[in-house]
Amino acid sequence: MTYKVPISEIFFSIQGEGKYAGRPSLFIRVGGCNLNCKFNNNRCDSFYAVDKRYESSWTLMSITQLINLIRQYYPCDIVFTGGEPTLYYKRLYPIVELFDNITFETNATIDIDFVKFAAYKDVTFAMSVKLSNSNESYSRRINKKAIYNMATNAKKSFFKFVIDRDLYLEILDIVDSLENDIYCMPMGEDKNTLEQNAPFVFEFCLKYGFCYSDRTHIRLFCKKRGV
Ligand code: SF4
Repeated sequence: MTYKVPISEIFFSIQGEGKYAGRPSLFIRVGGCNLNCKFNNNRCDSFYAVDKRYESSWTLMSITQLINLIRQYYPCDIVFTGGEPTLYYKRLYPIVELFDNITFETNATIDIDFVKFAAYKDVTFAMSVKLSNSNESYSRRINKKAIYNMATNAKKSFFKFVIDRDLYLEILDIVDSLENDIYCMPMGEDKNTLEQNAPFVFEFCLKYGFCYSDRTHIRLFCKKRGV
């Protein structure tokens, strides 16, 4: 059986945030997400990869097609983003087995079977667990078992939180005793909002010993897609 994955866009760019910021990366954005976040009543910045009304703009690609495309850029970092790429983690497994330096940018709600799909232990999960400022319910946005399994099986994984106020207690509840790095980034879908929120997040990171992450792509390109 030939498995296919809905792809919203693929582009080669510089990773703009988190642990691997600054690294040239091939971004593969899948279509579809199991959450529906709204930040300050704004849609998520990848709404076109989440909202079903954009489904007709997604391309169904086979794993072979994706492998051939990756080979045109490799070696480079490969970033599966979305939408929610772990929705398709079983279908994407041949790619995970074949290439190194793979990151899954994920909301960390889907529990990966690391026994059956062991190569995922070499993947970095950028666990952008959603906080209350996503306006999603706690029960939908937090799956502690999934978080624990990603954090402990795939040891390069890190947390990445979008902050607009002091959400320390929420972060503490999610991270618990896990030792993965914690990055906090200012909320904002344009340069002005980002810069308004940045000083607070900077101080917040200093206060609690978290890593500060900028969001280079928003600073440079605002809402432009494919960059
Ligand atoms: S989990 Fe991420 S991609 Fe999905 S709706 Fe929320 S912000 Fe958007």
